[in-house]
Amino acid sequence: MVLDLWRRIRRVGTSAEPPPPRPVADRPDRAVELGGSVQLRHVDAGSCNGCEIEIGSAFGPVYDAERYGARLVASPRHADALLVTGAVTRNMREPLRRTYQAVPEPKLVVAVGDCARNCGVFAGAYGVAGAVGDVVPVDLEVPGCPPRPEAIVEALRTLTGR
Ligand code: SF4
Repeated sequence: MVLDLWRRIRRVGTSAEPPPPRPVADRPDRAVELGGSVQLRHVDAGSCNGCEIEIGSAFGPVYDAERYGARLVASPRHADALLVTGAVTRNMREPLRRTYQAVPEPKLVVAVGDCARNCGVFAGAYGVAGAVGDVVPVDLEVPGCPPRPEAIVEALRTLTGR
């Protein structure tokens, strides 16, 4: 039984994409601080959920961000960094600020998608308070509407240094 399983694993191989080349870190000092892994608390500050689908792919079996040391956690108190999507709506401005305060130091913020970076297609909408950088300090931006999973994984690898 176990032998059959091993034979099948050998035959099928890995279903994950081969790792892309290691990216050059914008903030190599931060990568050293995080020591090879990063725990991420995701915050949807007003996204259309397109970015969430790509984050789901980035952590799925094909792109597998966990193999580079990135992991999604359920509480900001367990996190090193926030992964924020969407233009920040008026209702989410305060929850985002409080979530940021709950993350222990040293903490990072990754703005995922054009809405998070500069409000994107929602710029000027009545319910939008601003971009993520207008509410909390942003350390890393991932452009795109939505960003491709490869871009999300690449950004996370600059944090983990792996
Ligand atoms: S960047 Fe695009 S996909 Fe992401 S939340 Fe904004 S509109 Fe949706």
